[in-house]
Amino acid sequence: MKRPQVVILGAGFGGLTAAKTLRRAPVDVILLDRHNYHLFQPLLYQVATAGLSPAQIASPIRRIVSRQKNITVFMDKVVDIDQSRREVVTSERRIPFDYLIVATGARHAYFGNDHWEKFAPGLKKIDEATEIRRRILLAFEKAETTVDESERRRLLTFVVVGGGPTGVEMAGAVAELAHRTIVGDFRRIDPALTKIILVEAGNRILTSFPERLSASAARQLAQLNVTTMTGAAVTSCDEHGISLNNGSRIEAATIVWAAGVMASPAGKWLDAACDRAGRVIVDATLRLPGSDNIFVIGDTAAVTDSRGVVVPGIAPAAKQMGRFAALAIIAHLNNKTPEMFRYRNYGNLATIGRKAAVADFGRFTLSGFLAWLIWGFVHIWFLIGFRNRLIVFLDWIMAYLTFARGARLITGSEN
Ligand SMILES: Cc1cc2nc3c(=O)[nH]c(=O)nc-3n(C[C@H](O)[C@H](O)[C@H](O)COP(=O)(O)OP(=O)(O)OC[C@H]3O[C@@H](n4cnc5c(N)ncnc54)[C@H](O)[C@@H]3O)c2cc1C
Repeated sequence: MKRPQVVILGAGFGGLTAAKTLRRAPVDVILLDRHNYHLFQPLLYQVATAGLSPAQIASPIRRIVSRQKNITVFMDKVVDIDQSRREVVTSERRIPFDYLIVATGARHAYFGNDHWEKFAPGLKKIDEATEIRRRILLAFEKAETTVDESERRRLLTFVVVGGGPTGVEMAGAVAELAHRTIVGDFRRIDPALTKIILVEAGNRILTSFPERLSASAARQLAQLNVTTMTGAAVTSCDEHGISLNNGSRIEAATIVWAAGVMASPAGKWLDAACDRAGRVIVDATLRLPGSDNIFVIGDTAAVTDSRGVVVPGIAPAAKQMGRFAALAIIAHLNNKTPEMFRYRNYGNLATIGRKAAVADFGRFTLSGFLAWLIWGFVHIWFLIGFRNRLIVFLDWIMAYLTFARGARLITGSEN
């Protein structure tokens, strides 16, 4: 007898967890992703700042699930979902489903100014991280050779837009790269000229953390010579720099965008109601309203859990939703009534440079080196593959002792 077919769109944190949870279920699973690898996004900023190389934070999806016989992996791009025929439409084919889990994540948003992207790339994919790395390293190379002082100043000014965890992590890592790692390797670059500016529209950085930790993060950034500008929204962005709502202008050759998030176009594919960030609004069973076989999870979903908690767009939440959706499918096959999703908050972490971090565990908070040790342990623990864990661990020890960065490669081309 033909077994029910579960199609999972996206092999990120949510989709992969759902697929693994179905390993003993009497179903056939199709796991579909536009890439052939699962990406550990929390460490993407380290690729962008030459600390790690791409293969250290990405693992082939086929390898991860190779022992799970009920999974078939397709590398393909979803372009639509035909609900009436119960089919996923990709650029290559139509794939029928009995159950569907949509876990296609999110992208950065430019708040209606998509043309800024070429001046200020965001950090979501490996290609974007290596492009940012190229721009940062190239700026130093050009600064070494230019004879024009004001151009050298512009080349040595790095702006990070957005004071959330990614922006804070980027700014701290660029500061250490600029002020510690590379300076001895250049003859004409004056470290005092290198400026790293973190621009945040709100009145403080790390708004998802308690105020005390935001203030601590700002202090730790200042110790790394990062200038934090709050209450400053970008009004325009071009190849020479950015303008701000306070009328000021920052001339900078490298701008990194870490300011906004927009969900994947799943809402359009499903013709579903979405929130302002384009996330599909689902109920606490994580199902599309009116459907009993379509689940939307992770960064693509806007969820308020059974206790009224708004579920954040972070990796642990996506994993919990992935597991929940898979168990809900198994329960549905057994004619059991659906349960309600309940988010468990295990804490919130953000790192600042190579030896400081802030951590919010609800009942208590930490900042500084101890928080960084916890951050490091958690990230190594959740990386996929023993080899990646070992290599990242060794790289971090080297970076801690020597400031060395093993992936200082300029790849790709100007266009
Ligand atoms: C730079 C950065 C740093 C972060 N740091 C942290 C952190 O420190 N801690 C934390 O908890 N969270 C962090 N996050 C957030 C976390 O990574 C996300 O919340 C998490 O990845 C969401 O999981 P997901 O499964 O919903 O989506 P994702 O993990 O983004 O996976 C989506 C998958 O869908 C695939 N896909 C997308 N569109 C299509 C399509 N059309 N067709 C086929 N496949 C498609 C993608 O290739 C991808 O594999 C960070 C995110 C970023 C970008």
